[in-house]
Amino acid sequence: MLTVCKFGGSSVSDSSQLSKVKNIIMSNDTRRVIVTSAIGKRFKEDNKITDLLYLLAAHIRYGVNGDHIWNEIESRYEKIKTDLSLSLDIHKEIELIRNNINLRLDEAYLVSRGEYLSAKLLAEYLGYRFIDAADLFCFEYDGKINLEKSYEKINQNIDRKSRIVVPGFYGRKPNGNIALFSRGGSDITGSILARGLDASKYENWTDVSGILMCDPKIISNPLRVTNINYDELREMSYMGASVIHESTLIPLKDKEIPIHILNTNHPQDGGTIISKSNLENSHLITGITGKKGYYTITVVKDLSAPKVKVLADCLKIFDEYNVTVEHVPTSIDSFSIVVEQNSIADKVYEVIGKINSVNDVVEVSLDTDLALIALIGRNMATKPGISGKIFTILGNAGINIKMIAQGTKELTIILGVNNNHFEKSIEELYNKLVIENI
Ligand code: ASP
Repeated sequence: MLTVCKFGGSSVSDSSQLSKVKNIIMSNDTRRVIVTSAIGKRFKEDNKITDLLYLLAAHIRYGVNGDHIWNEIESRYEKIKTDLSLSLDIHKEIELIRNNINLRLDEAYLVSRGEYLSAKLLAEYLGYRFIDAADLFCFEYDGKINLEKSYEKINQNIDRKSRIVVPGFYGRKPNGNIALFSRGGSDITGSILARGLDASKYENWTDVSGILMCDPKIISNPLRVTNINYDELREMSYMGASVIHESTLIPLKDKEIPIHILNTNHPQDGGTIISKSNLENSHLITGITGKKGYYTITVVKDLSAPKVKVLADCLKIFDEYNVTVEHVPTSIDSFSIVVEQNSIADKVYEVIGKINSVNDVVEVSLDTDLALIALIGRNMATKPGISGKIFTILGNAGINIKMIAQGTKELTIILGVNNNHFEKSIEELYNKLVIENI
């Protein structure tokens, strides 16, 4: 049995966090492959090392003195080293980075040093071997990860029995330059290692006890999702729940490797298991999420015109302007196109102008007040009466539903309401469907 564990920035933010990490790792012999993020925040106003490194790169690029940032970075690592009585020469490491950067400002290299130094310290603290991510993760020149090559390198360099620490977030391009995943990308490092090594489990240790059923800013103390399948998780993330990096599932999706989200500060909480299979889940609803800020463009066509043709011509315009279409509710002589406000706001009148000139379009109107709410749950499929309950709950609360859509697998029901009804709708649906279980 092998467990790949990834610890996020807040799990390695200071020596007391690192001692929790050590206890977690030492309490289970299968936890042999460890991935770490750069040092994160110790408290709300604190700086994440990765943010400081990006800031430093900007200072250097514009010729502004960044000594204070170098000092802050060095002292964060130095403090951990001293507190834990480690021997890594932090000053020498920072000098080496500074010299390399003086020769050539390579932002990816500079930013990757956050993870590099965390991993060096953690490896020494655990007595595990450090393996550089640059020797394992192969990127192409266009910045995309080459999974096949990376799996090959992983298997050449790592034996499933060895105990190692790997820095997250980066790899190497064919010319030797460092390349980064997108922000939060240490999650992907962990999932690629888990897949490459055929691990039994991928544990993602963070500062929350798994995935919550709703945003805690809207519902205080929402229930935790104890297990969720890959499809449900994708729907939750797409509709606004930020859990783990959205690409984390890609290497794992065709394998049965489960991801376990756990809290470094409360390991006993249990967390959330994300898996391909459908574990027992007594809830009808797995999660309720959503986003404000959608636009609806409604098009009325000439009564005699073929709807498919007019619709296709209009959708082509969205494609030309690179605007993702979220939903297209239709009725006999009209259809509405729902898009995210951010993706269209600066060109919406241009797009409307173009739609107006499509053959057989009679009228175009714009509604800028739409929030979408997604009820997600694999247990909703084939159960009659759920939409009825939703209508009743929101109707009784005086909330008008402007749109409703259901995915083909009956995994998600999407509702459109006015932006100012967003929070209230989630509250009502959660209280009635989840807590009161009506
Ligand atoms: N340190 C990187 C970031 O802050 C990557 C990670 O933590 O996953 O985005």
